[in-house]
Amino acid sequence: MAGLRWVMMLMITLAAGLLGQVPAALSSEPVKISRDDTALDLTAMTDIHTNQGEAFQVSTAAGADGIRRRIEVRASSPDHNGDWAVFSLANVSEEQLERVIVAPHFRLAGSKIFWPDLGSQRIIAITPSEGFALDREQSPDADVFRITLNPGSVITFVAELSTPTLPQLYLWEPAAYKDTVNAFTLYRGIVLGIAGLLAVFLTILFVVKGTSMLPAAAALAWAVLAYICVDFGFLDKLISITASDQRIWRAGAEVALASSLVIFLFTYLNLNRWHVHLGYATLAWVLGLGLLFGVAIYDPSIASGIARLSFALTATCGILLIFYLGLSRYDRAILLVPTWALILVWLFGGWLTVTGQLDNDIIQPALGGGLVLIVLLIGFTVMQHAFAGGAYQQGLFSDLERQSLALTGSGDTVWDWDVARDRVVTTPDLSGKLGLSAGTMHGPVRNWLPRLHPDDRDRFKATLDVLLEHRRGRLSHEFRIRAEDGHFHWLQIRARPVLGSNGEIIRCVGTIVDITEQKNSVERLLQDAMHDNLTGLPNRQVFLDRLQSVLTLASTNPNVRPTVLAIDIDRYKQVNDALGIAAGDNILIALTRRLRRLLRPQDTLARLSGDQFGLILVSEPDPAKVADFADAVSQAIMVPINFANREIILTASIGLASWVDRQENSTELLSDAELAMYRAKRGGGNRVEPFRPIFRTSGTDRLQIETDLRRAIDRKELSLAYQPIIRLDNGEIAGFEALMRWEHPRRGSIPPSDFIPIAEASDLIGPLGLFALERAAADLIDWQRQTGALPIFLSVNLSSAQLLNNNLYNDVRALLAKSECDPGQLKLELTESLMMENPEQARLVLTKLKEIGLGLALDDFGTGYSSLAYLTQFPFDTIKLDKALVKDVQDRRAVLLRSVISMARSLEMDVVAEGIETDEDAAELAKMGCQFGQSFLFGPPTTGEATLRLLKERFPLTKRA
Ligand code: C2E
Ligand code: MG
Ligand code: MG
Repeated sequence: MAGLRWVMMLMITLAAGLLGQVPAALSSEPVKISRDDTALDLTAMTDIHTNQGEAFQVSTAAGADGIRRRIEVRASSPDHNGDWAVFSLANVSEEQLERVIVAPHFRLAGSKIFWPDLGSQRIIAITPSEGFALDREQSPDADVFRITLNPGSVITFVAELSTPTLPQLYLWEPAAYKDTVNAFTLYRGIVLGIAGLLAVFLTILFVVKGTSMLPAAAALAWAVLAYICVDFGFLDKLISITASDQRIWRAGAEVALASSLVIFLFTYLNLNRWHVHLGYATLAWVLGLGLLFGVAIYDPSIASGIARLSFALTATCGILLIFYLGLSRYDRAILLVPTWALILVWLFGGWLTVTGQLDNDIIQPALGGGLVLIVLLIGFTVMQHAFAGGAYQQGLFSDLERQSLALTGSGDTVWDWDVARDRVVTTPDLSGKLGLSAGTMHGPVRNWLPRLHPDDRDRFKATLDVLLEHRRGRLSHEFRIRAEDGHFHWLQIRARPVLGSNGEIIRCVGTIVDITEQKNSVERLLQDAMHDNLTGLPNRQVFLDRLQSVLTLASTNPNVRPTVLAIDIDRYKQVNDALGIAAGDNILIALTRRLRRLLRPQDTLARLSGDQFGLILVSEPDPAKVADFADAVSQAIMVPINFANREIILTASIGLASWVDRQENSTELLSDAELAMYRAKRGGGNRVEPFRPIFRTSGTDRLQIETDLRRAIDRKELSLAYQPIIRLDNGEIAGFEALMRWEHPRRGSIPPSDFIPIAEASDLIGPLGLFALERAAADLIDWQRQTGALPIFLSVNLSSAQLLNNNLYNDVRALLAKSECDPGQLKLELTESLMMENPEQARLVLTKLKEIGLGLALDDFGTGYSSLAYLTQFPFDTIKLDKALVKDVQDRRAVLLRSVISMARSLEMDVVAEGIETDEDAAELAKMGCQFGQSFLFGPPTTGEATLRLLKERFPLTKRA
């Protein structure tokens, strides 16, 4: 057809040598063609001459005449790259032969992996050595030229090539060529149809089901369809594309195939769920392949080369992953094995083809068909997953199935007792769980009895009997059954009878659950609930319970006179903080052991809370002996404990509450003991405090006292009592201590030790203290008005809480100015307890008070944490030894007393001994250097009037003097 379109230059020469400079290529031997040759592969017989320039010279094959001629062929355009192909044909038959020369554009075979040849137009034109240029036949995927060979003719053909390679060149008998094309058309049509159907089907499935692996499979199916469309030349039928566009399309299809395979593998194996990093890697992979689409436009070869590599890599990675996951029994991986095997086979075939080791006309369409087969297999696999399990979600199974599945899921055992035949069946067989041989627990229900715990047998029988008798209700029963290893299992049967038509129970069906663990933990909890798990002692609840029964006994039996001791370890928290909780625990255990030794069988020791013990003393009804017992407890706790090379001495605050013919319940009695214990604690610890009803002024009661106390000053319920302080050497009165008294209208007289702490805890201590000071100063002035100046002092107690009040100093000054009292005759008594809260402030105020001329006494020395350091730190001029210290006068510990007195004396302090019990003690103390004494022995605290009378009696001469 194109024969005349371009100018052909033909130069025929007789001798090859005449055309000097350019050596002409020699045409090889002609291919002989007879009538029967329907398809001849000319590829091997074709000589390719590259870079020969625009004008190509070749000497033809020798014709029948034996003459080689020389021809020159000029290219169709001046830009031609000078690639030429030469072949010769000889018609050896007797007739004229019609043939077509076919050069396919693309051949998968031999297209190579890297930089693959994606095909394009191969032959621009063919020039025969005789006649006109050949006519081109219309074909989208091959260059087809029609030739006519006369009998006996030998013709050399020069093909102008558009690429330096000519993968294949065939000489076809036209009808045969048509047939093959048509034959493949059918095949291709079928394959294309299947591929298209698969793609559409998988897509529809995805829309219907929505499982993620379906779109991935659908994507792969579409990619395969696209590839086949390109490969089978179907695309040209849809859109018109040039040969070079074809390359882009092909590369694009290959990239699509490669990336959809990655996506499918990833989605199908659900790699994202377990391997996050794999997810990232895959994403990067797919993105990279996505970029390849772009690359495909500029350089289809590169794109397709990478895509082919990626495909091979994916297939390899895939088989490794499937192998690995399959070993871990991942069912999806296992199901993919056949598909992947096919992919690998396909890959191998593809490799053989691409590298040219497999080269025939069938392989390319076969590989295309193979791809469709792969998608088909994938489709089956995916559907299997999409619909397996899906059945349940869709509610396609019956309630019966649901129930049986639930039962299997719960791990319970079904217990089925065929009452009529007395046959028990358990599924799964309970015998296995108990370590018995299969079927042991099957059979008549009485077979169970010997295995049951002896305590449970009768109950078990009775429960079943009752059920059968009543013919209704439910069975819910817990019992123990012995396993083969001798251990008992707690089982729970829950079942329901099934009634027959006659109303009798014919079956009893339900479940058996092993509740051993649950039972054990309940028992453990029960133990925990009753006993402290550190010391093993009963806890508060048990303590109260026992106390209650003892109290009930006490109300009928006069010999039972219980006492409750609340024992709290002093400063236990500090010990715990300093030595650690483990040490603290050990100490508690040690103390528990010591306390236990003091008990008789009828007594109870319990741990009430962290460092608090409770004791019910029943073995000792005599109140005097109870005090001794409390002392013994106190002593036992004080025994030093060795811990990590340290000696720890602990003390306890002990509260006592005895049952005294009162109808008191256990909680009240314990709370009384605890109140007394708190009182002991507040008194500095390390003491035993018996309960007094006033302790109950806690909570609302305490609030009531506070309210009452507020009004007490105005209502003149408060007064001062004066207790003389005597010179020990001559028995003269040296002064008095003013002690506050409160006559409560309803409660009677309340001792200061009860209301002073309440006042201290509120803002009342200020006015109260001032009242005492004012009254004492006023009384002193009043007395002296009647007796004349007296050589005595008045000691007034000052709460340390007042010291921290900024107004104290000013208040005292104002008071002194108003009363005209001589400050030298007044003394303030302070205890150390609160002073140490703010020693700086205390020292400052005390120094200023001292400057006014007031005397300062350190009260209750020898209790609490008395320290000699106070004596030097604060400007005291007097110390008052507490009765607790003074009672040791005749004791071994008198050494301590003696040294305290001598130290105070050397600091030029006056010493007052409180609570001296005997005259001998007084004499002894005097010998030690103590000048003063204050005690009931010398006189109790008395009213102001009584004191005045005493003064008038003792100092009769002063008025006159
Ligand atoms: P305190 O200052 O040590 O007072 C001495 C306490 O010992 C008084 O108890 C007194 O009655 C008592 N006493 C005296 N001689 C003997 C004796 O031979 N044997 C025994 N066993 N006790 C003796 P009281 O009056 O019950 O006062 C108790 C505490 O109340 C006082 O101890 C003092 O700290 C405080 N207090 C009393 N009045 C006031 C006050 O006006 N203001 C402040 N802030 N505290 C006061
Ligand atoms: Mg005092
Ligand atoms: Mg005192």
